[in-house]
Amino acid sequence: MSEKRDYYEVLGVDKSASEADIKKAFKKMARKYHPDLNRDDPKAAEVKFKEINEAYEVLSDPQKKAQYDQFGHAAFENGGAGAGGFGGGFGGAGFGGAGAEGGFGDIFDMFFGGGGRSRRPGPERGNDLRYDLEVSFEEAAFGKEVELNIPRTENCSSCHGTGAAAGTQPEECPQCHGSGQMQYAQNTPFGRIVNARTCDRCGGTGKIIKTPCADCNGTGKKRVRRKINVKIPAGVDQGSRIRVGGGGEAGVRGGGNGDLYVYIFVKPHKLFKREGTDVLCEVPVSFVQAALGDTVEVPTLDGKVEMKIPAGIQSGAVLRLKARGIPLLRGNGRGDQHVRIKVLTPQKLSSKQKTLLQEFGELCGENVNPEQKSWKDSVKKFFS
Ligand SMILES: [Zn+2]
Ligand SMILES: [Zn+2]
Repeated sequence: MSEKRDYYEVLGVDKSASEADIKKAFKKMARKYHPDLNRDDPKAAEVKFKEINEAYEVLSDPQKKAQYDQFGHAAFENGGAGAGGFGGGFGGAGFGGAGAEGGFGDIFDMFFGGGGRSRRPGPERGNDLRYDLEVSFEEAAFGKEVELNIPRTENCSSCHGTGAAAGTQPEECPQCHGSGQMQYAQNTPFGRIVNARTCDRCGGTGKIIKTPCADCNGTGKKRVRRKINVKIPAGVDQGSRIRVGGGGEAGVRGGGNGDLYVYIFVKPHKLFKREGTDVLCEVPVSFVQAALGDTVEVPTLDGKVEMKIPAGIQSGAVLRLKARGIPLLRGNGRGDQHVRIKVLTPQKLSSKQKTLLQEFGELCGENVNPEQKSWKDSVKKFFS
């Protein structure tokens, strides 16, 4: 009923092996199949390793060994042939031991020590920082050089980040002799095992500071407000991000600075709107200007520009001023400016103005514009 391999076979010993031989065989096998030493196939090694532990758990215990010798695997199976007869916590539930997940870690650590895998902490890059910068519409269009005042952590200038007072250096930790690790031997039932752990005196750095720098209290770091000049390129838009390499916080243990990211927020403009690299604006004209045509002044990013309005222009018509838009962020050239014409209907007319308009109306008849006639024809058709 069981597919389990024979415990003696697992450890590579025969039934007459002494307690010492079993122990020796187990240690040999455990080292051979330790998952850390079988990097190419750790999964298979782990299965093997558990099997070895389980076999040893039984064969190293004289009582369990006697039961196994008599009944085989059935001795430890829940509801198996021999289980009832033994009782005394020796059922399947009691047999967690080294084979179960929980026990695996314990025996693993006992033999090979968690410390053996720990590393001395290496250089670490500093944090990146973000700065939200509000710029005007024109600044976004043409770029700007700004001086930012960035609060950040820097290496202390008095001790150059070492934390040791001027004229002194961090010294080798006398406890771990600079290795950052402490090794200690442990006597276990399986022999003497050497473990390693992080040195508590120096925290794993391998160095201690005898005379701390007074400016930073030995931390090697200082909180400062650093003035950083940032060039905002022409053509940035809402949400553009500018990276300033090394503008972030200082790293630790010799790691480089983080970066500074400047996020652009563009203030709205009273006259202009932006669509990509094009600038949109609206220009109101009188209905007389619209009818007769005129030259009007239009505001642009480059100042006022004269623009010709053709006679008979309609409200909502859009005129284009070429290359008066936003400079391209990448590459040369500029977008256009689109000018939307808004024809204003006269209000609060004097009696003379009214008379003139009535006269004008009589001259034209109802159809001031041919478009009006064709619209009326369409309406007529719709209702007929
Ligand atoms: Zn310092
Ligand atoms: Zn140390």
